[in-house]
Amino acid sequence: MPDWLAAGHSYYSLNYFYKQKFGEKIRKISLDAGLDCPNRDGTLGRGGCIFCDPASFSPSRRLNLASLSAQMEEGMRQPLVRSPAQRFIAYFQPATNTYGPLDRLRAHYEEAISHPKIVGLAVGTRPDCVPDEVLDLLAELARRTFVQIEYGLQSSHNRSLRWMNRGHTYETFLDAVRRSRERNLQVGVHLILGLPSETREDMRITARELAKLNLHSLKFHNLYAVKNTRLAEMAHRGEVVLPEMADYISWVVDFLELTPPNVVIDRLCGDAPAEYLLGPPWCVNKSAVKRAVEEEFRRRGTRQGVMNAEC
Ligand code: SF4
Repeated sequence: MPDWLAAGHSYYSLNYFYKQKFGEKIRKISLDAGLDCPNRDGTLGRGGCIFCDPASFSPSRRLNLASLSAQMEEGMRQPLVRSPAQRFIAYFQPATNTYGPLDRLRAHYEEAISHPKIVGLAVGTRPDCVPDEVLDLLAELARRTFVQIEYGLQSSHNRSLRWMNRGHTYETFLDAVRRSRERNLQVGVHLILGLPSETREDMRITARELAKLNLHSLKFHNLYAVKNTRLAEMAHRGEVVLPEMADYISWVVDFLELTPPNVVIDRLCGDAPAEYLLGPPWCVNKSAVKRAVEEEFRRRGTRQGVMNAEC
């Protein structure tokens, strides 16, 4: 029986993983290395993914803090009401954080992990932007600290990736995961549930695909729209319907039932600051989403991994 199940949980949360691994509460702090994205700067495409405004992902980009040190100090100062963390994961979050010269990337990562309160590194990136030498660098750092690479995938269906203007295929993602795992890197994957091109069964297909890949973690986002993006225009024109909470909860629980019990669930839904978010409004209430997911597991009498063949 998984530890998290014995402790009374219905899924393997990131907080539970951090407490197991580090023996205390750990918080991720978002850092902006000022890197661009090849899907925005014209290398692969212009305009980026239809849902993307990098500033909406990142406090550091919104606050316009210059140095990584200043961003770390600010991130560590942020109050966390119930239990303030004393140690942190440096999370390179906005844009594509493996997109740059190797020596520049090394300098950013080294600066972050040299801080005495930083216990690990999380690097968000695209699956088509991880040359072997960058993965080798992350593997070298992983021998000194906890390192996770987080790939934006969103869906295993190439038609959905085209609809979002991701600029890469599922096969590219599989290649990136294979090369990352060959180096023993912990791989996290970002997903969007509720894409208009996908049925409930399509989302289950993505869950079954990802269950085969020996991933470390999954981060779920509901389809939400940030102002001044192409997705927001589509939602405003009524071409896209942003999912209701009840539907989203069913999809998340479907997905988790098919996800192996050793995969950490980094997040159950996404949101953006009020000044950026067009909708849906329910996703800002993360506690309500968490309670609803737990309640749905209770109603079904299931848990994470219950429908995974290897459980
Ligand atoms: S790959 Fe990431 S940073 Fe680039 S456009 Fe898409 S969501 Fe934005």
